[in-house]
Parts: sequence; C-alpha cells; structure tokens
Amino acid sequence: MIQKGDTIPTDRYLIGGANNLLISPTPPPLMMLSKEFAYIEENSGILEIGAAMPTGRIVSYAKKHNIGGFEFCSKLPGTLGGMLAMNAGVKSYEIFDILHSIQINGEWINKEHIPHGYRFAKLRGVATCARFEIVKGFNAALLDSLLSLRTNQPHDPSAGSAFKNPPNEYAGRLIEAVGLKGYRIGDMAWSDLHANFLVNLGEGRYEDAIALLHLAKERVKRKFGIPLQEEIKILTA
Ligand SMILES: Cc1cc2nc3c(=O)[nH]c(=O)nc-3n(C[C@H](O)[C@H](O)[C@H](O)COP(=O)(O)OP(=O)(O)OC[C@H]3O[C@@H](n4cnc5c(N)ncnc54)[C@H](O)[C@@H]3O)c2cc1C
Repeated sequence: MIQKGDTIPTDRYLIGGANNLLISPTPPPLMMLSKEFAYIEENSGILEIGAAMPTGRIVSYAKKHNIGGFEFCSKLPGTLGGMLAMNAGVKSYEIFDILHSIQINGEWINKEHIPHGYRFAKLRGVATCARFEIVKGFNAALLDSLLSLRTNQPHDPSAGSAFKNPPNEYAGRLIEAVGLKGYRIGDMAWSDLHANFLVNLGEGRYEDAIALLHLAKERVKRKFGIPLQEEIKILTA
C-alpha cells in the first residue's frame, strides 16, 4: 500500500479498483494507493482529485456541486487512476477530454505532454492525483441517457469490454458474428447479453478466460481479417 510521501516502488504493478484486469494465479507483485489518495479539493476554479477516488464518488460530488463533465463516469467502475491510465470513456466522452494535468511520480504533467488515444494513455508512472478546470452545470439529462446505455450489459462479474473496438467496428458484433456470443468454457463465457463481455458464471478460471480470448481473436482474424486487441490488462508473472 502506497502512503503519501512514500517512494513509489518500480518493481510492482499498480492496481486501482481492479475492474479492467484479468489476473492469473501467478500475478506479478502488486501495489495500491492508500485511501489518503481518495480526496477531492476545489481551489481557484480547479478541481484536484486523488487517484484512488472511486468514480461513483466523483460523479456524486460533481452532481452535488453542479459541476459538468463527469457525467459519463457514472457506472464506469474503478478509480480515477484507472480511468486516467485507460483513458476510460463512454461513447464520445473520455477522461482526457476534461483533464488538465496529472501528477505522475510526483511531477505535474499537462495532458498535452501525455500520449493518449482511444482507451490508452502512456502515463510512464503512478498517477497520484489529477486536476480539472471546473465547468459549472451538471447535465442530469446526459447522465440519464448514458445510464440507459447500460441496460444491455451483463450483471455477472466481468472486467468490462474485453477487446477494444477496431476502427469503424464493434468488437461485440465481430465476436457475435463468429458464433461466440454466449459461448462458454468452464464457468467463463462470452456474455449472451453483450458478446464483448467475458463473464464469470461462478468458478471461472484464468485459463478458461485466456482460451476464450484466443478463440475470439483467432476466429475474428480468420473470418474478417481484423486483429482484435485486448482492452483488459492481463496480469501474469
Ligand atoms: C461492468 C463494467 C463496465 C465497464 N464499462 C466501461 C466503459 O464503459 N468504458 C470504459 O472505458 N471502461 C469500462 N470498464 C473498464 C473499467 O471500468 C475502466 O477501465 C476503469 O477506468 C478501471 O479503473 P480501475 O481503477 O478499476 O483500474 P484497474 O482495473 O485497477 O487498472 C487498469 C489499469 O490502470 C492502471 N492504473 C490504475 N491506477 C493507476 C494509477 N493511479 N496510476 C497509473 N496507472 C494506474 C493499472 O496499472 C492498469 O494498467 C468497465 C468495467 C466493468 C467491470
């Protein structure tokens, strides 16, 4: 557990809320930020949020204080740190759109200097907090419309979308088109609600999840010539 003022170890893998991870039985050594990094402070029009802050609490804060921009984070499970590292988003909204700067390994870096794109950001270290310019006006209608998008997502445990959407395509559509929607190995399956969600139906094993990922990649490549790229992070020693 990293506390404020600690030197950040470089030989450990940092996890946030572990919502985007597939963890093998032999993971690398792991570390987490302590609760000291779960805070929100407002100062001169700037919102500073600690990287361990859960996304749900960020949205609640934004709603309570009538701040716009964070509506899309609702129902996007995880911490601010995970969102920054993944450039998490929903539809056309991404965290980098509203970001000003991130403190990485103790140094403030403006977002323009951080390579980022669809579901990736090269942080090159541990994000401990980030700053956002405050824009007044929480958009409750936008929140409601984004929440309604979640109705086709499974409630079984998952790590969210397993693959990134290829350009102009949907990974879920491709997985369905190769006959894998609902396909099960052991207790792991491609969800029958949304084919890009790898769900755990009980005692799901890492090996079965890996087998399903390989199967989808292989079939989609063979049928469509499209290489699927994992969005989830696979942690193995
Ligand atoms: C049901 C469900 C729905 C989801 N829907 C969406 C969605 O709509 N859109 C979307 O983008 N994602 C979605 N996800 C994926 C997930 O919510 C996001 O990727 C989220 O940002 C992960 O946050 P986390 O804290 O759990 O990160 P983790 O899963 O713990 O880590 C993800 C990555 O972030 C890195 N990381 C975490 N914290 C830090 C830090 N402080 N500094 C540097 N690196 C860090 C980790 O090393 C790892 O590489 C969904 C997941 C689930 C389970």
